[in-house]
Amino acid sequence: MQYDQALKVLEEADCLADRATVEAAIDRMAGVITASIGKKKPMIFCVMNGGLIFCGQLLTRLPFPLEVGYLHATRYGHETSGGDLEWKALFQADVEGRTVLLVDDILDEGVTLKALVDECLTRGAKKVLTAVLVNKQHERKVVPGYCADFTGLELPDRFVFGYGLDYEDMWRNAPGIYAVKGL
Ligand code: 5GP
Ligand code: MG
Repeated sequence: MQYDQALKVLEEADCLADRATVEAAIDRMAGVITASIGKKKPMIFCVMNGGLIFCGQLLTRLPFPLEVGYLHATRYGHETSGGDLEWKALFQADVEGRTVLLVDDILDEGVTLKALVDECLTRGAKKVLTAVLVNKQHERKVVPGYCADFTGLELPDRFVFGYGLDYEDMWRNAPGIYAVKGL
């Protein structure tokens, strides 16, 4: 995407959650996650690339012993509508017997997150929990009612970017969550 076009995308986008709103949501989640698994010495996986910013900001708010790794699977490539799962990196850590927390940007249909949860369970994790910054509200979840264990924000069914989420590989750095004009 051209520089000018990228600027225009952000300018024209609708801000669905500003920085203060997102950070308040992450604060709240950190409290709930600490109460839930603060004594379990969890293995926390950042789901790349979208989970990068949310996971980083969440981690500094978790005041307990934990380990961090990353997983990389994607469904979207450069498209803005669904496609097949593509695994780009898997488990550099042994999860057997561990409490695992998967941290991702958004739960859309939930195909990606559910596949990662299943993979952790197959590898012998004792318990697998999920945290997403955004839940997209619609009736197309992989299993009806499927949701993460910890959710930051409930947002409408639009294509969003910012806080780790990209629009055509741009604006993961946008300091809020924005919906693309017309999408
Ligand atoms: P799911 O398998 O839940 O349908 O798709 C999850 C993945 O698709 C997310 O982790 C994210 O990478 C991508 N995705 C889904 N909806 C959006 C969106 O609105 N914006 C962006 N940037 N990515 C999305
Ligand atoms: Mg993702």
